[in-house]
Formats: sequence, C-alpha cells, structure tokens
Amino acid sequence: MARYRDPVCKLCRREGMKLFLKGDRCFSASCAIEKRNYAPGMHGQRRTKVSDYCKQLREKQKMRRIYGVLETQFRKYYRLAERQTGITGENLVKILEQRLDSVVHRLGFAASRAQARLLITHGHIVVNGRKTDIASYRVRPGDTIEVRPKSREIATIKAALEGVKRRTSPSWLELDATNMKGVVRSMPSREEIAIPVEEQLIVALYSK
Ligand code: SF4
Repeated sequence: MARYRDPVCKLCRREGMKLFLKGDRCFSASCAIEKRNYAPGMHGQRRTKVSDYCKQLREKQKMRRIYGVLETQFRKYYRLAERQTGITGENLVKILEQRLDSVVHRLGFAASRAQARLLITHGHIVVNGRKTDIASYRVRPGDTIEVRPKSREIATIKAALEGVKRRTSPSWLELDATNMKGVVRSMPSREEIAIPVEEQLIVALYSK
C-alpha cells in the first residue's frame, strides 16, 4: 500500500496549522507548529502573494493530509462524491470520515489516523465480528467496530483511549470504552465533522 513516508510535521508547517497527525505530541510544546510556524525549506519565511488557485490547492492538500489519502485515491473519492446526491464538497468530507481508519481514530482506539491504519493492517480491529485489515473500508450505520479481544492489552490502544476520555467523541459514534467497542449510530452530518477545511474550494479546484 502506497503511503506518505516523510516527516509529517512538515505537512502541518506547509499548511500553517496543526493537522493533528501525531497524537499526543500535537498537544504538547514539542509540536513543530508551536516552535516554527512557517513553511519548511529555505524560503519558508518568505512572504508570497496567494492566488485563488493557490488557496484552492492548499485546501485540497490540507484535506488529503488530514485523512492521509494519496492523490489518486482522493480523486476517486471526489468522483464518487460528485455522483452522489447533495452537495459535492460535503459528500466528500463524509466519505472520508466514513473510512475505517478515521472511525478507529475518532472512537479513540488510536491517537492518530496513521496509528489507526497500523492497527487495522496488523489485524487488531474487528468490524461486525470479522477481522478487517482494510483501512479504507467505509463504515455504515449499525456497524460495530471493536478491538480484537487478544489485542486489548496493547499499551498504545489503552493510552489512546485514556486520551479520548479527555476529549469528546462525535455524536454519530457510540463508544463503549470498557469493552473497546464502538457502534456507528448514523451517517455523520457536515456539522458533526470538525475539520478546518473549506471543501467548496476543493470543488472549485476540481471543477476547472
Ligand atoms: Fe502537526 Fe502534530 Fe507535528 Fe504539531 S506535532 S506539527 S500538530 S503533526
């Protein structure tokens, strides 16, 4: 499976905001955005004129980076969002949010989406009673997502769940932290998805 392998903090610095790609570190003083909030590279601190195209491109990159999706797959999601009824931008956000790695992270079994992807590909996650190792699997209402019984003592999962107790999980998911189990109550609405992206700019970019 192709994936981004370079330092992820650079991605936040490029977007000029925290994308929360590293779990607990993102909430600490070690976060690169706290220390060097400018774009990486030798010209990172230069002021540049921002065109409309640049704004649209940055929104698209930001969304891709938050969900850890590469360009080809992102385009496929966009085409799918276009074919669905409703507002294309909102459909796109919902499709990405339904990915299993995102749901595992939202439920608090993993501190980041990257960590969630690792748990899934290593077979620690069970969907509707069956081991599922496909991070892009799209959940549906009524699906149950749980940590495999044998994997419940894994320290990173326990630590991530401790972290989620300090935050709130979204209302469209129901978490049973004691049994490391979650249920998808409904499809998320755009208002329930807290990501700092203006998806209409992505639609404008791809509509050209
Ligand atoms: Fe981004 Fe987290 Fe790195 Fe901070 S620590 S720059 S939020 S990935």
